[in-house]
Amino acid sequence: MKNIIVANWKMNQDFATISSWINDFFYKICDDKNFPEIAICPPYLYLDMLSKVINKNNKNSLISLGSQDISFSQSGAYTGDISAKMLKDFSCKYAIIGHSERRQFHCETNDILEKKLKMTIAEDIVPIFCIGESLKDRQEKTYVDFLKSQIKSVIPKDIYLESLVLAYEPIWSIGTDTTPKISAIKEVADLVCSELLNYKNIKNFKIIYGGSVKSSNSKEILSIKNINGLLVGSASLNYKEFFKIIS
Ligand code: PEP
Repeated sequence: MKNIIVANWKMNQDFATISSWINDFFYKICDDKNFPEIAICPPYLYLDMLSKVINKNNKNSLISLGSQDISFSQSGAYTGDISAKMLKDFSCKYAIIGHSERRQFHCETNDILEKKLKMTIAEDIVPIFCIGESLKDRQEKTYVDFLKSQIKSVIPKDIYLESLVLAYEPIWSIGTDTTPKISAIKEVADLVCSELLNYKNIKNFKIIYGGSVKSSNSKEILSIKNINGLLVGSASLNYKEFFKIIS
């Protein structure tokens, strides 16, 4: 199974910095089939710019585009939202759903996330569904139940999904320069894997890790059994650092 490395730019970058990121990155990345799959999730406004560059330079379909969110509705009076169909117009293959920052700052509940997940199916977008416990859950050792409930509350048992990327992102690790021990990531990867194997209608899934990933720790994290990729936030903003991670 090919690993996937997802770049989540969050609300960072602008026209000038993206232009130079693209130039430098595409110059470095030749169509080497040994690279993992790469998905870039820029702010919505830059999807168009990136989709044009990717369509032009991406002979082996190594690089895909993803969104950082998706509307729970198909269309209508939802000011500020972007629908699955609109994302498809800009060749988005992936959509991040349930990032802890969306849950925290936009009050996204598991009910809303279930609707968002269903929206991805309508347009054949692969969901990158994020789960992750707080420091309190980790310290009080309630994280196993918490993570299981995040999966069960958002993914209905009878859902049909051709592909799913499940991102384990402990909240206490995001942007903090602190990563869990390798054994702790492995424990969750194994747990998530056995939970997802209960879903007979999910045809393919990958489990990826996110939270303070850098070139200095990426290799070790990728060596964990059942981890099939990484979700990279701040380290993906610097093309050199991101290139080291994918290499
Ligand atoms: C993220 O928020 O998805 C993330 C992984 O951030 P960082 O790499 O900056 O911790």
